[in-house]
Amino acid sequence: MNNINKREISLKRAGELKSRIDDYLQIKDTLKKGTSDEQKNKIAAKKAKILSFFNATEEDWKDWKWQLKNRISDINTLAQLIDLDDNELENIKKVGENYRWAISPYYLSLIDEDKFNAVKLQSLPTGLELVGEGDTDPMGEEFTNPAGSITRRYPDRLIINVTNECAMYCRHCQRRRNISTTDSHKSKETIQESIDYIRNNPEIRDVLITGGDSLALSDNMLDWLLSELRSIPTVEIIRLGSRTLVTMPQRITDNLVNIFKKYHPLYINTHFNHPLEITEESKAACEKLANAGIPLGNQCVLLNGINNDKYVMRLLNQELLKCRVRPYYIFHAKHVIGTTHFNTSIDDGIEIMEYLRGYTSGLAIPTYIVNAPKGKGKTPILPQYLISRGKDSVKIRTWEGEVIDYPNHPSVDIKAMLSNNEK
Ligand SMILES: *Cc1c(COP(=O)(O)O)cnc(C)c1O
Ligand code: SF4
Repeated sequence: MNNINKREISLKRAGELKSRIDDYLQIKDTLKKGTSDEQKNKIAAKKAKILSFFNATEEDWKDWKWQLKNRISDINTLAQLIDLDDNELENIKKVGENYRWAISPYYLSLIDEDKFNAVKLQSLPTGLELVGEGDTDPMGEEFTNPAGSITRRYPDRLIINVTNECAMYCRHCQRRRNISTTDSHKSKETIQESIDYIRNNPEIRDVLITGGDSLALSDNMLDWLLSELRSIPTVEIIRLGSRTLVTMPQRITDNLVNIFKKYHPLYINTHFNHPLEITEESKAACEKLANAGIPLGNQCVLLNGINNDKYVMRLLNQELLKCRVRPYYIFHAKHVIGTTHFNTSIDDGIEIMEYLRGYTSGLAIPTYIVNAPKGKGKTPILPQYLISRGKDSVKIRTWEGEVIDYPNHPSVDIKAMLSNNEK
């Protein structure tokens, strides 16, 4: 084949590839995101309104303790800060009698006039929380707690739960039963008991600190806990789970980052669910952590009406990579009481995965996970790429849907062959 033909074929193929993202390119700029000029202006206006209401300054806004102390959790304050109709207010009040809600001034500033705004749906209760059934503890976490506030479901890693406090109480929270009615950090004794368990079980090489929100703890408490864990020689890596990057990015201070730097290798996983949550402020918080050498991952929850959309999810994951956050998991939402209106079908999740692989960077593709009931573990779900498996060949399906036979040669005995070759 001559070079002109090769170029012609390549150009034809390139045209075909272009056509594979036409639909996305057409819709991409219509999707809402927190870093668009339009949204930035809306956030700035809302922030000014909130600051004036609290008679607070820019310095206050940047102070996470101010943000936490001024979480909005009563409808009178809320009604003065954003537009809600009587029906919405009545429902928030009613749900509030059963389930707690609270929202940081920062996260509130991301809500716009859209009745179905993704930030609003995640943070303000609706009457749907009171209809429908569901379980309180589908994971049976009560039965996987060998000591202290540990949850252990795997051979070499476990969770320490340190608090039930969060900067905002997600309406879809899968651990809703722990959120309870008041904030409470685990006692130092309980945390000490958890640390002792890890010290006495040397197969534990990976410790996850979570909650609630692990970064609701004070800098001093985190410093102590991390130094205790680092003093255990068998602990290889430490991970922190926190949604403050999304709901209260002011938490990521220089002091906090300097503490983290002492305890590498340290990983942080956060929880962005929608491109509207990626703002200049949250992006700066991610960058500060990344600059301190902390690899960042994202664990999102697949939520009906919020992100169960192949385009929204593609944009979210691409925007995360721009903040140096690597998409890690998409969790299928469990059947938790008060949250079931956010549940999606498994088909929604599979469709999203189908339209990530091949269409966008592998780095933007998380693993879609169904948590098996009763704490039996995370189970990955993929569209079908392995169509059949034979002894001599397998049938594979490409991202574009082409089915191809692929040879399945047995592995040879390489050491024997190398030895024979030397003779
Ligand atoms: C999710 C989870 C982990 C961490 O799992 P990875 O797949 O390693 O991220 C560890 N322990 C418990 C109890 C968990 O629920
Ligand atoms: S931040 Fe996490 S623990 Fe806290 S309410 Fe949201 S999902 Fe639940």
